[in-house]
Amino acid sequence: MSCEKASPSKPMSGCEQQYETVNILKPAGVCQLCEDFSARESIKPVAVMCCEGSCLRGEIARQASNILCHSLLPERTARVCLGGAFTKNTGQRALVRNAPRVIAMEGCFLKCATRMMQGVLDGLEPEVVITDSLIDFDRDLFSADEMPEVEIMGHALNVAEQIAARLGDQQPAQPSAGTCCACSR
Ligand code: SF4
Repeated sequence: MSCEKASPSKPMSGCEQQYETVNILKPAGVCQLCEDFSARESIKPVAVMCCEGSCLRGEIARQASNILCHSLLPERTARVCLGGAFTKNTGQRALVRNAPRVIAMEGCFLKCATRMMQGVLDGLEPEVVITDSLIDFDRDLFSADEMPEVEIMGHALNVAEQIAARLGDQQPAQPSAGTCCACSR
């Protein structure tokens, strides 16, 4: 898609109103650990990317993604590094490009991970999960430090179990002893 540049005398086009153009500096080198990880993970059928936001909603999504990929379904899911996939055209981006199934775990309706990756991968249509819609909590809270860590972990576990169940292999487990009461639905 091509957009003409706006000038003070020229109003923004519809394209400019809808899209933001960014120039991303290419990395100076390659992280071999990251590339080796991506190569290993590429055999898995589901790539999981997450908005990774630093607010409460993003933190719950981030922790839920880790639980899903590292504990509940480690054989089937590859945990994508969103920053790596977005900013460099190497292994992490290839995980998203080539996976038979891509899940985007978004902390909220703004869908940052989905919009970022659609900017670098034409036609990408991940299965979007708005994680804050899966849990009950005080909607006025914003920052991650406004909720006790144990409660965040409980919500993350709850979200991860729901997504694992959707992926077919895992039913939601009973809350563990360490799960706080605020996490139950
Ligand atoms: S999707 Fe929402 S929670 Fe996640 S980074 Fe974007 S604004 Fe933050």
